[in-house]
Amino acid sequence: MINISSNFEGGNIKLIEIAENNIQLHINDDHNSAEKQWFYFQASQVKNLNCKFDITNALDVSYPEAWPTCTIVYSYDRKHWQRLATHYDEHTLSFSLKPEHDIVYFSLFPPYSYQRHLDLITRAIIQDNCQLVACGQSIYNRPIELLQIGDNAANKKNIWVIARQHPAETMAEWFAEGMLETLLNSKSKDACNILEQATIYIVPNMNPDGSILGNLRTNGAGVDLNRSWLRLDPSKEPESHFVFKQMEKIGVDLFLDIHGDEDIPYTFFAGTEGIKGYSKQLAHLDKNFREILSQITPDFSQENGYEPSTPDTVDMGIATNRVAQRFNCLSLTLEMPFTDNKYQPDSELGWSTDRSKRLAENIIKSLNIIVPELNHSS
Ligand code: ZN
Repeated sequence: MINISSNFEGGNIKLIEIAENNIQLHINDDHNSAEKQWFYFQASQVKNLNCKFDITNALDVSYPEAWPTCTIVYSYDRKHWQRLATHYDEHTLSFSLKPEHDIVYFSLFPPYSYQRHLDLITRAIIQDNCQLVACGQSIYNRPIELLQIGDNAANKKNIWVIARQHPAETMAEWFAEGMLETLLNSKSKDACNILEQATIYIVPNMNPDGSILGNLRTNGAGVDLNRSWLRLDPSKEPESHFVFKQMEKIGVDLFLDIHGDEDIPYTFFAGTEGIKGYSKQLAHLDKNFREILSQITPDFSQENGYEPSTPDTVDMGIATNRVAQRFNCLSLTLEMPFTDNKYQPDSELGWSTDRSKRLAENIIKSLNIIVPELNHSS
C-alpha cells in the first residue's frame, strides 16, 4: 500500500487521500505563520505503479503565480535530483511518475540538509584561514555561525554574505557552499586575490529552525527574517538581531543577501534605490557590479527583476535596505530561480545545486573587480 511521509528534517506535506494510485496532498503552513509553498516528501511502496500526485491547495500558497511555470524535482537517493513535468490548473498542482524503485522523494528544489550544513561549517573551520568569529542562537537554540575567511588587517574591506533567511530557498545555501569551497581553495587565484583585498564574513544559514521545520519563509517564531531588520527584537528574530550587532562591531563595506525567487525565471540583483541615503556613488557601484557579473557569466541577468523601490515603497525591514542605510555601502539581494534560467535552459536539471555553486565562484571573480572601488568603513 502506498505510504506518504514528510516526517523528517525539512519535510512538508499533508496526505489528504489516496484513491487507487491517485494521491491527494496539501502543503502545510509554516510553523506559527500562514506562509506556505515549500514541500518535500517521500512516497514509498510505489515501484512500477502509475502514480499521480495532486496538491489540491496549490492556489492557497504564498506565490500561486509561480505554479504555471514551475517544474518540481524528484530523487531516488536524495543526492541526484531530476526535473519532473508539472501541471497547474488554477487550483491543483499535479505531477505523475511510474517510479523505478520502491521509495521516491519529491520537492520544490533540491533540499540542503542540516547534516550537510554542520559538515560544511566544520569542514570550513578546520582550514587555517577560516574561523568561527561569533555564533548567535536561533529561537530553538541552534547556532547561527558567522565565519570569517582571511585575516582582518585594518586596510582590508569587509564583505558580508548571508544566506537562507528564507529557509525554502535552499539554492542560497548551495551558493554559500560554493563560495566557501572557492575561498578555502588555496589554489584558487580568485580566492587569493580577494583575500588580499578583503575579509569575508559569511553566515551560510540564517534560519536553521525554519530549514528543519520545512518552512517556506519564516523562523521558529513565525517571523519573516527578511522583513525584521528595522525592528530586530532578540526575542522574535534573534538570528537577524545577532548578525546586525556583529555588523555594527566589525563594519560593512559590501553586503550580499542570497535568496531564491519562486516566480521569476532568472538570476538577478535587487538593489536599495528607495533608501534615504541612496547616493550617486551607491548607484554607480550597483550598476558597475551588475555589468561586471553579467560579463563574467551568462547565468546573471541585468534585464529582469523587481521594480526598484522608491522612498514611498521602500521596506526598511529588508536586510539590504537597512544595511545600506546604516553603513552607506553597496548592498544587494541576489535572487536565483527555483525552476530554471530562461536564458540558459537545462531541460534535465533546470536551475541546479551545481549552478548555484558556480554562480558563487563567478561572484568572487566579480568581487575582485569591484572591491577596489568600495568605501572603507573603519
Ligand atoms: Zn527570499
